[in-house]
Amino acid sequence: MKPHLRKDIFSSCWVIINDERSKRPNDYVDSNIICPFCPGNEKQTPVAILERKRGNKWYIRVVENKYPALVENNNNVLEKEGIFFKYFFNGRHEVIIETPLHRENFYNIKHLSEIFEVYSFRMNYLYSLKNSKYVMLFKNYGVNAGASLKHPHSQIISLPIIPVRVEDEVKRFRYYFYKYRRCLMCDVIENEIMLKKRVFYIDDFFIVFAPFASRFNFEIWIAPLKHEKDFFNEENFNGLADIFRLVLKKLHRIFDDLSYNMIFHTAPKNVENFHWHIEILPKLAMPAGFEWGSGFYINSVSPEQAIKILKLGKKIN
Ligand SMILES: [Zn+2]
Ligand SMILES: [Zn+2]
Repeated sequence: MKPHLRKDIFSSCWVIINDERSKRPNDYVDSNIICPFCPGNEKQTPVAILERKRGNKWYIRVVENKYPALVENNNNVLEKEGIFFKYFFNGRHEVIIETPLHRENFYNIKHLSEIFEVYSFRMNYLYSLKNSKYVMLFKNYGVNAGASLKHPHSQIISLPIIPVRVEDEVKRFRYYFYKYRRCLMCDVIENEIMLKKRVFYIDDFFIVFAPFASRFNFEIWIAPLKHEKDFFNEENFNGLADIFRLVLKKLHRIFDDLSYNMIFHTAPKNVENFHWHIEILPKLAMPAGFEWGSGFYINSVSPEQAIKILKLGKKIN
Protein backbone atom coordinates (compact mmCIF):
# COMPACT_ATOMS: atom_id res chain seq x y z
CA MET A 1 0.00 0.00 0.00
CA LYS A 2 1.38 3.42 -0.94
CA PRO A 3 2.26 5.56 2.09
CA HIS A 4 -0.54 7.92 3.03
CA LEU A 5 -1.98 9.95 5.88
CA ARG A 6 -5.00 9.05 7.93
CA LYS A 7 -6.76 11.46 10.27
CA ASP A 8 -7.87 9.87 13.53
CA ILE A 9 -11.62 10.41 13.71
CA PHE A 10 -11.50 10.23 17.52
CA SER A 11 -8.80 12.90 18.04
CA SER A 12 -6.79 15.62 16.32
CA CYS A 13 -3.96 13.12 15.58
CA TRP A 14 -2.68 12.21 12.15
CA VAL A 15 -1.14 8.83 11.38
CA ILE A 16 1.15 7.90 8.49
CA ILE A 17 0.38 4.40 7.23
CA ASN A 18 3.43 2.90 5.59
CA ASP A 19 4.00 -0.85 5.29
CA GLU A 20 7.38 -0.38 3.58
CA ARG A 21 9.01 1.11 6.69
CA SER A 22 9.08 -2.32 8.35
CA LYS A 23 11.74 -3.38 5.78
CA ARG A 24 14.33 -0.90 7.13
CA PRO A 25 17.67 -2.46 8.12
CA ASN A 26 18.36 -2.32 11.84
CA ASP A 27 21.90 -2.75 13.14
CA TYR A 28 20.71 -2.60 16.75
CA VAL A 29 18.87 -5.88 16.07
CA ASP A 30 21.31 -7.41 13.54
CA SER A 31 24.93 -6.28 13.90
CA ASN A 32 25.89 -8.17 10.70
CA ILE A 33 24.01 -5.88 8.33
CA ILE A 34 26.07 -3.85 5.89
CA CYS A 35 25.64 -0.19 6.80
CA PRO A 36 24.20 1.65 3.78
CA PHE A 37 25.60 4.94 5.12
CA CYS A 38 29.26 3.83 5.21
CA PRO A 39 31.63 4.88 2.37
CA GLY A 40 31.77 2.17 -0.30
CA ASN A 41 28.07 1.32 0.13
CA GLU A 42 26.69 4.43 -1.60
CA LYS A 43 24.82 2.28 -4.15
CA GLN A 44 22.59 1.02 -1.33
CA THR A 45 21.06 4.47 -0.91
CA PRO A 46 19.24 6.62 -3.47
CA VAL A 47 21.58 9.02 -5.34
CA ALA A 48 23.06 11.92 -3.40
CA ILE A 49 21.12 15.18 -3.42
CA LEU A 50 24.04 17.00 -1.87
CA GLU A 51 27.60 16.05 -0.96
CA ARG A 52 30.25 18.01 0.91
CA LYS A 53 33.62 16.66 -0.19
CA ARG A 54 37.30 16.81 0.64
CA GLY A 55 39.10 15.74 -2.53
CA ASN A 56 36.93 12.98 -3.94
CA LYS A 57 35.71 11.76 -0.53
CA TRP A 58 32.41 12.93 0.92
CA TYR A 59 32.11 13.88 4.57
CA ILE A 60 28.43 14.92 4.54
CA ARG A 61 25.93 13.26 2.23
CA VAL A 62 22.21 13.95 1.79
CA VAL A 63 20.01 11.32 0.15
CA GLU A 64 16.32 10.62 -0.16
CA ASN A 65 15.20 8.11 2.44
CA LYS A 66 15.04 4.66 0.84
CA TYR A 67 12.03 3.92 3.05
CA PRO A 68 10.29 7.31 3.08
CA ALA A 69 7.53 8.05 5.57
CA LEU A 70 5.81 10.03 2.79
CA VAL A 71 6.42 10.26 -0.96
CA GLU A 72 5.86 12.79 -3.70
CA ASN A 73 2.67 11.88 -5.55
CA ASN A 74 2.71 14.89 -7.87
CA ASN A 75 -0.75 15.87 -6.74
CA ASN A 76 -2.70 15.53 -3.55
CA VAL A 77 -5.31 12.76 -3.83
CA LEU A 78 -8.10 11.90 -1.42
CA GLU A 79 -9.58 8.41 -1.31
CA LYS A 80 -12.92 7.89 0.44
CA GLU A 81 -13.62 4.78 2.48
CA GLY A 82 -17.11 5.10 3.98
CA ILE A 83 -16.84 7.90 6.53
CA PHE A 84 -13.01 7.84 6.40
CA PHE A 85 -10.50 9.46 4.06
CA LYS A 86 -7.02 8.37 3.01
CA TYR A 87 -4.84 11.35 2.12
CA PHE A 88 -2.24 10.55 -0.53
CA PHE A 89 -0.52 13.88 0.04
CA ASN A 90 2.90 15.00 -1.11
CA GLY A 91 5.77 14.71 1.28
CA ARG A 92 9.49 14.26 1.04
CA HIS A 93 11.80 12.43 3.39
CA GLU A 94 15.58 12.91 3.27
CA VAL A 95 18.46 11.56 5.32
CA ILE A 96 21.52 13.62 6.23
CA ILE A 97 24.49 11.28 6.66
CA GLU A 98 26.68 13.38 8.89
CA THR A 99 30.07 11.72 8.74
CA PRO A 100 31.71 8.81 6.88
CA LEU A 101 32.71 7.34 10.26
CA HIS A 102 30.21 4.72 11.43
CA ARG A 103 31.03 4.91 15.12
CA GLU A 104 31.68 8.63 15.56
CA ASN A 105 29.61 10.36 18.20
CA PHE A 106 27.58 13.30 16.86
CA TYR A 107 29.12 15.87 19.21
CA ASN A 108 32.67 14.75 18.34
CA ILE A 109 32.25 15.45 14.63
CA LYS A 110 34.73 18.17 13.69
CA HIS A 111 32.55 19.64 10.93
CA LEU A 112 29.50 19.94 13.19
CA SER A 113 28.87 23.56 12.18
CA GLU A 114 28.73 22.51 8.52
CA ILE A 115 26.11 19.90 9.42
CA PHE A 116 23.90 22.66 10.84
CA GLU A 117 24.50 24.67 7.68
CA VAL A 118 23.34 21.69 5.58
CA TYR A 119 20.25 21.29 7.82
CA SER A 120 19.41 24.92 7.20
CA PHE A 121 19.99 24.66 3.46
CA ARG A 122 17.80 21.57 3.03
CA MET A 123 15.12 23.00 5.31
CA ASN A 124 14.97 26.16 3.22
CA TYR A 125 14.70 24.10 0.03
CA LEU A 126 11.97 21.80 1.37
CA TYR A 127 9.94 24.82 2.50
CA SER A 128 10.08 26.09 -1.09
CA LEU A 129 8.17 23.03 -2.35
CA LYS A 130 4.60 23.83 -3.33
CA ASN A 131 2.77 21.43 -1.03
CA SER A 132 5.08 21.73 1.91
CA LYS A 133 3.38 23.18 5.01
CA TYR A 134 5.87 22.11 7.65
CA VAL A 135 9.45 20.84 7.59
CA MET A 136 10.56 18.73 10.51
CA LEU A 137 14.19 17.96 11.18
CA PHE A 138 15.04 15.40 13.80
CA LYS A 139 17.64 12.96 15.03
CA ASN A 140 16.98 9.65 16.75
CA TYR A 141 20.08 8.64 18.68
CA GLY A 142 20.30 5.26 20.39
CA VAL A 143 18.07 2.24 20.51
CA ASN A 144 15.62 3.71 23.05
CA ALA A 145 15.07 6.73 20.80
CA GLY A 146 13.91 4.61 17.86
CA ALA A 147 17.14 4.71 15.82
CA SER A 148 17.63 1.83 13.39
CA LEU A 149 21.20 2.58 12.27
CA LYS A 150 24.12 3.61 14.51
CA HIS A 151 25.81 5.57 11.75
CA PRO A 152 25.36 9.29 12.64
CA HIS A 153 22.47 10.70 10.64
CA SER A 154 19.45 12.97 10.92
CA GLN A 155 16.22 13.05 8.99
CA ILE A 156 14.22 15.83 7.44
CA ILE A 157 10.60 15.48 6.35
CA SER A 158 8.50 17.92 4.42
CA LEU A 159 4.88 17.51 5.51
CA PRO A 160 1.68 18.53 3.71
CA ILE A 161 0.01 19.36 7.04
CA ILE A 162 1.15 21.03 10.25
CA PRO A 163 1.65 18.36 12.94
CA VAL A 164 -0.62 18.57 15.99
CA ARG A 165 2.19 19.32 18.45
CA VAL A 166 3.51 22.17 16.29
CA GLU A 167 -0.01 23.50 15.63
CA ASP A 168 -0.57 23.53 19.39
CA GLU A 169 2.64 25.55 19.91
CA VAL A 170 1.67 27.94 17.11
CA LYS A 171 -1.68 28.58 18.82
CA ARG A 172 0.12 29.39 22.11
CA PHE A 173 2.51 31.80 20.35
CA ARG A 174 -0.42 33.46 18.54
CA TYR A 175 -2.56 33.78 21.66
CA TYR A 176 0.34 35.22 23.69
CA PHE A 177 1.11 37.74 20.97
CA TYR A 178 -2.50 38.95 20.70
CA LYS A 179 -2.75 39.25 24.48
CA TYR A 180 0.63 40.87 25.28
CA ARG A 181 1.99 41.97 21.88
CA ARG A 182 5.16 40.06 22.67
CA CYS A 183 6.78 36.81 21.59
CA LEU A 184 6.08 33.94 23.97
CA MET A 185 9.60 32.49 23.70
CA CYS A 186 11.31 35.88 24.10
CA ASP A 187 9.38 36.31 27.38
CA VAL A 188 10.14 32.74 28.52
CA ILE A 189 13.84 33.40 27.90
CA GLU A 190 13.67 36.68 29.84
CA ASN A 191 11.89 34.88 32.69
CA GLU A 192 14.43 32.03 32.80
CA ILE A 193 17.34 34.50 32.85
CA MET A 194 15.69 36.36 35.75
CA LEU A 195 14.93 33.19 37.76
CA LYS A 196 18.29 31.46 37.02
CA LYS A 197 16.93 28.05 38.19
CA ARG A 198 16.60 26.24 34.90
CA VAL A 199 19.37 27.78 32.78
CA PHE A 200 22.24 25.45 31.98
CA TYR A 201 24.17 27.83 29.76
CA ILE A 202 23.83 31.21 28.14
CA ASP A 203 26.13 33.19 25.87
CA ASP A 204 25.63 36.21 23.61
CA PHE A 205 23.62 34.18 21.07
CA PHE A 206 21.90 31.16 22.61
CA ILE A 207 20.30 29.96 25.82
CA VAL A 208 20.19 26.33 26.98
CA PHE A 209 17.51 25.63 29.55
CA ALA A 210 15.16 23.00 30.95
CA PRO A 211 11.57 24.06 30.23
CA PHE A 212 9.30 24.78 33.22
CA ALA A 213 6.95 21.90 32.34
CA SER A 214 9.63 19.45 31.13
CA ARG A 215 7.92 16.26 29.96
CA PHE A 216 11.01 14.06 30.09
CA ASN A 217 13.91 13.58 32.51
CA PHE A 218 16.62 16.06 31.50
CA GLU A 219 14.60 17.61 28.68
CA ILE A 220 16.72 20.45 27.29
CA TRP A 221 15.76 23.28 24.95
CA ILE A 222 18.12 25.48 22.96
CA ALA A 223 16.88 28.81 21.59
CA PRO A 224 18.48 31.87 19.99
CA LEU A 225 18.39 35.01 22.15
CA LYS A 226 17.61 37.16 19.13
CA HIS A 227 14.03 36.73 18.00
CA GLU A 228 13.84 34.69 14.80
CA LYS A 229 11.01 32.43 13.69
CA ASP A 230 12.84 30.40 11.03
CA PHE A 231 15.83 28.17 11.73
CA PHE A 232 16.95 28.52 8.11
CA ASN A 233 17.64 32.22 8.74
CA GLU A 234 20.18 31.32 11.45
CA GLU A 235 23.80 31.99 10.50
CA ASN A 236 25.77 31.30 13.69
CA PHE A 237 26.43 27.62 13.01
CA ASN A 238 29.77 27.71 14.84
CA GLY A 239 28.06 28.99 17.96
CA LEU A 240 25.37 26.33 17.71
CA ALA A 241 27.97 23.59 17.22
CA ASP A 242 29.77 24.72 20.41
CA ILE A 243 26.48 24.60 22.34
CA PHE A 244 25.79 21.04 21.14
CA ARG A 245 29.28 19.89 22.06
CA LEU A 246 28.79 21.29 25.55
CA VAL A 247 25.30 19.88 26.16
CA LEU A 248 25.72 16.44 24.59
CA LYS A 249 29.17 15.87 26.09
CA LYS A 250 27.68 16.55 29.55
CA LEU A 251 24.64 14.31 28.96
CA HIS A 252 26.83 11.47 27.66
CA ARG A 253 29.15 11.86 30.65
CA ILE A 254 26.26 11.60 33.10
CA PHE A 255 24.43 8.72 31.40
CA ASP A 256 25.99 5.62 29.88
CA ASP A 257 24.21 4.52 26.74
CA LEU A 258 22.20 7.72 26.42
CA SER A 259 19.41 7.64 23.86
CA TYR A 260 17.78 10.89 22.83
CA ASN A 261 15.62 12.54 20.21
CA MET A 262 16.61 15.96 18.94
CA ILE A 263 13.84 17.93 17.27
CA PHE A 264 14.05 21.27 15.50
CA HIS A 265 10.95 23.42 15.96
CA THR A 266 10.78 26.11 13.32
CA ALA A 267 7.84 28.19 12.08
CA PRO A 268 5.42 26.49 9.70
CA LYS A 269 5.07 28.16 6.30
CA ASN A 270 3.25 31.52 6.46
CA VAL A 271 3.17 31.55 10.27
CA GLU A 272 4.44 34.78 11.84
CA ASN A 273 4.27 34.21 15.60
CA PHE A 274 7.00 31.72 16.37
CA HIS A 275 10.55 31.57 17.74
CA TRP A 276 12.64 28.63 16.57
CA HIS A 277 14.13 26.29 19.13
CA ILE A 278 15.63 22.83 19.43
CA GLU A 279 14.31 20.23 21.84
CA ILE A 280 16.62 17.52 23.14
CA LEU A 281 14.53 14.75 24.68
CA PRO A 282 16.60 12.09 26.48
CA LYS A 283 14.89 8.70 26.58
CA LEU A 284 15.72 7.77 30.17
CA ALA A 285 12.22 6.57 31.02
CA MET A 286 9.58 5.20 28.68
CA PRO A 287 6.10 6.72 28.52
CA ALA A 288 3.76 4.15 30.09
CA GLY A 289 0.04 3.49 30.46
CA PHE A 290 -0.82 6.73 32.23
CA GLU A 291 1.03 8.83 29.62
CA TRP A 292 -0.52 6.99 26.67
CA GLY A 293 -3.95 7.08 28.26
CA SER A 294 -4.01 10.70 29.34
CA GLY A 295 -1.52 12.73 27.31
CA PHE A 296 -0.08 13.79 30.70
CA TYR A 297 3.55 13.15 31.42
CA ILE A 298 4.96 12.17 34.79
CA ASN A 299 8.52 13.43 35.04
CA SER A 300 10.54 11.98 37.91
CA VAL A 301 13.35 14.59 37.69
CA SER A 302 12.30 18.23 38.12
CA PRO A 303 13.86 20.57 35.55
CA GLU A 304 15.51 22.50 38.40
CA GLN A 305 17.15 19.30 39.69
CA ALA A 306 18.12 18.25 36.16
CA ILE A 307 20.01 21.52 35.64
CA LYS A 308 21.83 21.11 38.99
CA ILE A 309 22.93 17.58 38.00
CA LEU A 310 23.85 18.67 34.47
CA LYS A 311 26.02 21.48 35.82
CA LEU A 312 27.78 19.04 38.19
CA GLY A 313 28.32 16.67 35.28
CA LYS A 314 28.94 13.53 37.39
CA LYS A 315 27.95 10.06 36.25
CA ILE A 316 24.71 8.88 37.89
CA ASN A 317 24.12 5.42 36.40
ZN1 LIG B 1 27.97 3.11 8.68
ZN1 LIG C 1 10.88 35.58 20.15
